Amino acid sequence: MTQTDVTVGVDIGGTNTMFGFIDATGRELGGGQFATYSDDPPEQLIRRLADAIKKAFMSLEDDNCRLVGIGIGAPNANFHNGTVEHPPNFDWEVVDVVSLMRRHFDLPVLITNDANAAALGEMRYGGAKGMKHFVQITLGTGLGSGLVVDGNVVFGHDGFAGEMGHLTVDPKSDRRCGCGKYGCLETWASATGVARTARKLLAERTEDSQLRLVPPEDISSKDVFLAAEKGDPLALEVFAITGEVLGIKLADAVMILSPEAFFFFGGLARAGELLLAPTRRAMEANLLPIFRGKVRLEVSQLQDRNVAVLGAAALMQSMLPDLPQP
Ligand SMILES: [Zn+2]
Repeated sequence: MTQTDVTVGVDIGGTNTMFGFIDATGRELGGGQFATYSDDPPEQLIRRLADAIKKAFMSLEDDNCRLVGIGIGAPNANFHNGTVEHPPNFDWEVVDVVSLMRRHFDLPVLITNDANAAALGEMRYGGAKGMKHFVQITLGTGLGSGLVVDGNVVFGHDGFAGEMGHLTVDPKSDRRCGCGKYGCLETWASATGVARTARKLLAERTEDSQLRLVPPEDISSKDVFLAAEKGDPLALEVFAITGEVLGIKLADAVMILSPEAFFFFGGLARAGELLLAPTRRAMEANLLPIFRGKVRLEVSQLQDRNVAVLGAAALMQSMLPDLPQP
C-alpha cells in the first residue's frame, strides 16, 4: 500500500486553535479544534495542541498516513526566528513556538503569520496557482495582507513585511486603530471599519435607511451588506467609501509591487462586487497609466475552505522538497 504524506496545518487564533491533516493535493483528511485560552502560558497551549494532534492522528481513517511536517499560522509570527512576538489578544511576550512544538514532534516545523499563510494557501490551492506576483488580503476584524513577489512570500528583514492594514490613510483622522495609530487603512477597510463608517453616516445624516432599524452599537458589516444588497442608498454609500479608501491604498501597492492580482478573503470579502467594484474604480483612478487595466481584484477561491489551516500546511509543503510541487 502506498503511504500518504500529510502535513499538519495549525491556526493559532486568539479564541480558537484549529488544525488539519492536509495531503499533497490539498485534501483535508481530518483535524480538530479547541479553545485557545490565550491567558495560558504558551507551554501549556503547545502541549494541549501537541496532544490533540497526536490523538486526532491516531484516529485518522486512513492508517497509512505519515506525518512529514507542521506548518503554523499565528498572529505576529516571525518566520525567520520561529517566534510569536507580542501577539494582540494574548498574554505573551516573545515565544519560541517552533522550539516548543519540536519538544513534542521530531518533525520540521515552520511558522508565519495568518495573512502570509493565506497567501501560500491561495498560491498552492486557490486562484493564485501559477502566479508569481500577487497580494492576498484578508478582510476580517482587521486587514491582513500577504505579499508574493517572484513566487515567494515577502517576509522582510525582520519577518514582519506586508502589514498593509496599518498603512496610513489619514493621520489626522479620529479613527483610532488597535495598533495605537490614527487613520490606519483597517479602520475603514475591514468588517469593523465598515460598521464604523455606517455608524458615522447614520449619525451625520437624517435620511431613511434600513440600517436605522439596528441599534447603532450593534451594527455589523453583515447588516450593511444585507442592506446594500437590497439597494439601501446609505449602505451602498458605506461600500463606496470603503472601496474608495481601499482602492487608493491598493494603487499604492500596485505601484510598489506590480502584482497580477489581489485576492480577497474573509467575512467582508463575501460582499464581492459590492465592495470590489468601487475598490477597482478608485484603484484604477489612482494608478499611473502604465499600470491601468492590468490588475485583477478577485474573491479568494478558498473562501469556503479553512484557509488558515490549509495555508499553514502549504507553508510547510512549499519547503518540503520530496512533495510534488504545483
Ligand atoms: Zn493600525
